[in-house]
Amino acid sequence: MKTQVAIIGAGPAGLMLGHLLRAEGIDVVVVERSSPDYVLGRIRAGVLERTTTYLMDQLGLGARMHAEGLPHDGFHLADGERMIRIDIGALTGRQVMVYGQTEITRDLMEAAPGRDLEIVYDAADVALHGLESDAPCVTYSKDGAVHRIDAQFISGCDGYHGPSRKAILASVATAYEKIYPFGWLGILADVPPAIMNSSTLIMNGALRWHRCVRKSGAAIISRCQQTRQSNNGRTINCGMSWQSAWGRKRPHI
Ligand SMILES: Cc1cc2nc3c(=O)[nH]c(=O)nc-3n(C[C@H](O)[C@H](O)[C@H](O)COP(=O)(O)OP(=O)(O)OC[C@H]3O[C@@H](n4cnc5c(N)ncnc54)[C@H](O)[C@@H]3O)c2cc1C
Repeated sequence: MKTQVAIIGAGPAGLMLGHLLRAEGIDVVVVERSSPDYVLGRIRAGVLERTTTYLMDQLGLGARMHAEGLPHDGFHLADGERMIRIDIGALTGRQVMVYGQTEITRDLMEAAPGRDLEIVYDAADVALHGLESDAPCVTYSKDGAVHRIDAQFISGCDGYHGPSRKAILASVATAYEKIYPFGWLGILADVPPAIMNSSTLIMNGALRWHRCVRKSGAAIISRCQQTRQSNNGRTINCGMSWQSAWGRKRPHI
């Protein structure tokens, strides 16, 4: 198979890039190792910044996001009894949108056939070849056969652990990294909102609570804590304090 751009990974980055290239009339094939159901079941982001919502609108794919998403104008920092409101709207003139990453992925996936964006799911053993040449290609296995895609460009949207990052020659690779002095763990829980009728995120010094998401009521809670250093590298302490978050009642998760 031949295409102009082969994209590895059908997460939000790979799908968004694929749609943007298709909108310019560029031929694209996206290769994803997982099934569509697996990708759609992978719960991650819940809060979208302006760039993402803007791009969805530019692609003409933002209708469901605006209908079902929850725009937020700001958030609260909780410090003991003190609540400090950060008014994003007043400070920047922008909002963030609470709309699940899986929903963005679904919108991009469902629009793909109508825009001739080809996505190959369940592709095993994805490998990049000839990156230092003018004729790079991607190979993968599917249905008992090895397939090859010749492309002018290959875009690696397969995350930190995917094959693209490892395939880039060390002599031309530059890594940009910023390490923050904390880590977090997010859990999506089916519980009532922290503050009824509030459209504001709440962040606590120890706990970060995203009031969100679905009609049934749900919350994402994250514990922010100083990242611990060890001799073997960085380890993140992910302890949870249920009582601080939900009073005495532990939520059903
Ligand atoms: C708990 C959590 C909460 C988050 N909350 C937010 C938030 O509120 N707001 C926000 O903006 N961001 C948030 N993020 C970050 C956000 O989820 C990521 O930035 C986003 O998923 C990155 O998208 P991506 O497409 O680059 O990578 P991914 O979503 O990781 O997609 C990579 C794709 O590549 C595929 N792939 C991997 N290896 C291969 C291979 N060998 N061959 C083929 N395909 C392969 C994977 O299956 C996957 O589909 C959160 C992340 C987590 C984990």
